[in-house]
Amino acid sequence: KRTITRLPDWLKTPIPAPGSNAGFSKIKSDLRGLGLHTVCEEARCPNIGECWGGGSKAAATATIMLMGDTCTRGCRFCSVKTNRAPPPLDPHEPENTAEALARWGLGYVVLTSVDRDDLADGGARHFAETIRRIKTKKPTMLVEALTGDFRGDLDMVKVVAESGLDVYAHNVETVEGLTPYVRDRRATFRQSLKVLEHVKAVKGKEGIITKTSIMLGLGEQEEEIWETLRELRKIDVDVVTFGQYMRPTKRHLKVERYVTPDEFEIWRQRALDMGFLYCASGPLVRSSYKAGEAFIENVLR
Ligand code: SF4
Ligand code: SF4
Repeated sequence: KRTITRLPDWLKTPIPAPGSNAGFSKIKSDLRGLGLHTVCEEARCPNIGECWGGGSKAAATATIMLMGDTCTRGCRFCSVKTNRAPPPLDPHEPENTAEALARWGLGYVVLTSVDRDDLADGGARHFAETIRRIKTKKPTMLVEALTGDFRGDLDMVKVVAESGLDVYAHNVETVEGLTPYVRDRRATFRQSLKVLEHVKAVKGKEGIITKTSIMLGLGEQEEEIWETLRELRKIDVDVVTFGQYMRPTKRHLKVERYVTPDEFEIWRQRALDMGFLYCASGPLVRSSYKAGEAFIENVLR
């Protein structure tokens, strides 16, 4: 028996052609020669036109991957390659990244990384150093860090939280009941809540924005999503995003369900009603989706 999984129409969006959006083309051409690797380009993210070119220059957003392309963990939804001993960190990366970003016409950067359980500090100091250097070279640049859980080492969360960033993001990815099937076994839902809670403990409730992201379509029940949102509000998480889980290859978890755009909109409204500062929710939404625009509209206004 063959099963044919058809992609619903709302997920068939072409990646915008270069030149179709003035801001997008300018940022794309500026990128050449800077030696930066963006997740936006490497993952062929369909939102690239909106993130790079949408809104004002100050709102233009891109995501940069730090600390290499090899992760020490193996989550069942993620296509990043895995190895227990990835190559050592590039000590010049913080400075080179900051230098390149300062020259690039971009207002908001999301720094993310693979998980580096092989390093004593999980890469926290490397992350923090990169943020400090960006802020020194270009103080107007808004910086979001999307980190792993540092194996629950809250001192390392503190190192990043105190580095001068504007938004601290850490993704719970899914509801608690599905976490053991979806994420690497070293990641737990409770540990992720502790990371997000500690950021607020270090910086104060108003001192920083915290953010998390949930994939839908993995088999979660409606009540489990409600419960997740309640847990996140309890620890003052400010921003939540919802996106459709997309299976990267046949070796990864299969999609249980394609959630409709209307349902995504319902969850966005529910999140706002629960007191989240803002919520991006849609089939193609990724945690960094138009993050600059959202921050400027909801935090700086
Ligand atoms: Fe992918 Fe992050 Fe999991 Fe590593 S820790 S496998 S980069 S989702
Ligand atoms: Fe880049 Fe994230 Fe926007 Fe995709 S959603 S284009 S990865 S910033």
